Order: sequence, then structure tokens, then C-alpha cells
Amino acid sequence: MLPGKIRMMTPGTYIAKRRQAAGLSIDDVAAMVSTSPRLGVIDRRAWIERIEQDVASISYDVAATLADAFPLSLHVLKQLIDLRSFGQCSGPEPSLCIHCGCSDRDPCIDPETHAACGWAAGDICTSCTGKDSSHAA
Ligand SMILES: [Zn+2]
Ligand SMILES: [Zn+2]
Repeated sequence: MLPGKIRMMTPGTYIAKRRQAAGLSIDDVAAMVSTSPRLGVIDRRAWIERIEQDVASISYDVAATLADAFPLSLHVLKQLIDLRSFGQCSGPEPSLCIHCGCSDRDPCIDPETHAACGWAAGDICTSCTGKDSSHAA
């Protein structure tokens, strides 16, 4: 691995990873979020897919809607959107786990110990190390 930053993940990838880390399917999220104008669940599903593929744009309202459905850092998401749009963002670039997309602002919480995850190795957090990735999409 190269020293320093790997290529920063896109906003859509970040959202997809945080959704998967929360154990939610796109259908789950489509059932949870409300949109304006109101979309049917089929349309909402397609809309979420387009967001995760970085096709649909992510407004602040959209980001806030998704953040209600599963844990993600709106600050990190805005930074990723700015990096993708302008090649730069305010403040230092976020450090994200390449597996689950968690960050210092949005760490994994161990359900038993309630401890936040830390950095195991560069771009992987402690709650993702040792996990087998065979079921990763
Ligand atoms: Zn992780
Ligand atoms: Zn983590």
C-alpha cells in the first residue's frame, strides 16, 4: 500500500458503506426515508441506488434524510462531496475505514462494551480487523 492517503472514497460509496455497516439493505432504507416530492417505495429504491452510484446529487436535505436512517457523519459526507466536486474540502481530509466507512466523528460502537473503535492499521478500524470479509458485497 502506498504511504499516506489512498484515493478517497466517493460520497456514494461512503453512504453505501455506512448503510451496510448498519446492517440495512437498500430496501430497508427505502422503507424508512421520506422524500419530497413523495416517491413510491420502488422509486425511492432506485433513487437510493443512484445516490450510492454517485449519479444522483446529494443535497443537504438528502444527506440529513439518510443520516436519520442510519449513522453517518454529515461533516464527512460534505467533505467527500466537496472533494469530488472541487478536489478539496474544508479542514483535513477525513480518515475513513475502507471496510465500513466509519470515521473519528462516527466510530463503530461495540454493542457489548459500548467502546468506540480505533485505528487498527492505517485505513482499517479495530472493529473491522479480524472480521472475515467473505460476505462483503
Ligand atoms: Zn471499520
Ligand atoms: Zn469502525
